[in-house]
Amino acid sequence: MKKLENVFIVGGGTAGWLSALYMQKIFPQSKISLIESDEIGIVGAGEGTTANIITFLEDLGINHFDLIKETGATLKLNIKFENWNGDGKSYYHPFSTFLGMSKIDLGKMGWPADKTSSTYFNDDARIYLLYCITNNLPLDDFLLNNVLSSKNLSNFSIDTRTGLARPISLNSYHFDASRLAQFLRRTGESRGIQRIEGIVESVINNGDGYITKLKLKGGLVCHTDFIIDCTGFKRKIIGEFYRTKWKSYKKHLKVKSVIPFFLPPDENKIVSHTNCIAMKYGWMFQIPLQHRYGSGYIFDSDFINADQALEEAEKFMGRKLDPIRQLNFDAGRFEEGWVKNCIAIGLSYGFTEPIEATAIMMLIIQLSLIQSHLGGITHSDKFIISRYNKFIAEMNDRVMEFLAFHYITKRKDSEFWKSLQEGSFIPDSLREKLDLWKSQAPTSLDDHSSVPWEPFIPENYLMVGHGLELFDTTAWTPQLELMGIKNNLSYNQEIKSLINNYNRVAVPHLDLIKILKK
Ligand SMILES: Cc1cc2nc3c(=O)[nH]c(=O)nc-3n(C[C@H](O)[C@H](O)[C@H](O)COP(=O)(O)OP(=O)(O)OC[C@H]3O[C@@H](n4cnc5c(N)ncnc54)[C@H](O)[C@@H]3O)c2cc1C
Repeated sequence: MKKLENVFIVGGGTAGWLSALYMQKIFPQSKISLIESDEIGIVGAGEGTTANIITFLEDLGINHFDLIKETGATLKLNIKFENWNGDGKSYYHPFSTFLGMSKIDLGKMGWPADKTSSTYFNDDARIYLLYCITNNLPLDDFLLNNVLSSKNLSNFSIDTRTGLARPISLNSYHFDASRLAQFLRRTGESRGIQRIEGIVESVINNGDGYITKLKLKGGLVCHTDFIIDCTGFKRKIIGEFYRTKWKSYKKHLKVKSVIPFFLPPDENKIVSHTNCIAMKYGWMFQIPLQHRYGSGYIFDSDFINADQALEEAEKFMGRKLDPIRQLNFDAGRFEEGWVKNCIAIGLSYGFTEPIEATAIMMLIIQLSLIQSHLGGITHSDKFIISRYNKFIAEMNDRVMEFLAFHYITKRKDSEFWKSLQEGSFIPDSLREKLDLWKSQAPTSLDDHSSVPWEPFIPENYLMVGHGLELFDTTAWTPQLELMGIKNNLSYNQEIKSLINNYNRVAVPHLDLIKILKK
């Protein structure tokens, strides 16, 4: 079998440059080149991330402080969901629960140095959540990231010994998507990744489907033995050349159109959470950056058009808005993300919808699985390829299921919300869980999938489901009594005083950004 020599990444968005940097790291002997086209450009959307980006960037040797400086990044501790039941109430979905957090020291590179921080939640966290829920303790006051972000604090304190900022819980980032791609490009080029400006027009294969050459507009031909297709919604190779089968999620995820717009920055409003506000025909995101607010209305175009969406958004915001464009998308994924000697990563493989900012999270997971599956050879075993495809497909389906869960609300104030009330959008696998949770609390045994990582686990379902008031916990009483956590308030004072301590030492969000940018 032939070793990887000439790896080509086609596409220079976040997926392309992260793939290039990752491939260079795991296959240092291979030549890594990236072809991208300024004429086509990048999608430029996607300004929220999840916590797995922290350790992934660190593994790539990317300095977090540089990232914050160069991409206008802010910290993201959680997502605040507003008005999803139409009653004006809100709830948070944080990255770490109080007991699930770990203390981490700053490394030389930035933070966190301690890899244990990749543990989002664990059994303790689930029990802690159940303890709060069953004893009617508000999660806004009892989960550390929620407490911090509601006070616009960061999750960092200053170490009095070293004077360095150190995290006290897990966070992620918001950043400017275009600046991020440029930052990653500068990093990649400085590490010797060759960038070729051009448009891939066609590919040549060896008769067996393995691509040997990429032909660019203008005549340039690039010889290759492995390709990562990061061409975004163009899906140039995986879709156009291989014509892989598409699996649509449109039955389950209904929003399909977006009008993005920017708002000017307001120093007092640079919050440490993403706002997700339910609207009449979908929802609005508000993402705080250092230099602007990235915002947009994501709606179901079966019910309204872009002009109607704009009218509703302007009324809601009480101001004129200037949308950058209208973008339509199909929720779904390919059946196979890896075909012959090509793997599709990022939007080229698929897209759900942005409610939990999962696209970059999933592309990181996809990349992380490459090393164990590809092993540096061009012609991998059929079994290995099919196992990779199965893992990725199943993890995407699990994400889709969790995103659909957010739409089980009490809202009936438009045809859109009324259409969701009858429930046919709920995937069967989710319906099974909902039935199960009528009689018992979520546990890690509820998932039927066999994947290396479960993207969303019972703790996530507990926090969102509780926020949506979906659970009737009276039926959980015997189980919770057995666990010794029902009607047991003995920990409350201790927890409150711990949280108060963290509250006292946490640096205000904006101050922290200023410190990290110095
Ligand atoms: C409304 C919206 C909101 C989103 N919000 C989030 C979010 O909050 N969090 C999140 O994680 N994700 C989000 N996403 C997804 C996010 O935008 C993408 O995951 C991320 O930007 C990576 O995109 P990409 O690199 O796959 O594609 P792109 O950024 O579109 O890059 C595609 C690249 O391929 C190149 N290209 C295309 N065809 C060719 C060709 N023939 N030859 C050469 N080059 C070619 C282009 O020039 C470009 O460089 C959102 C997406 C949308 C639409």
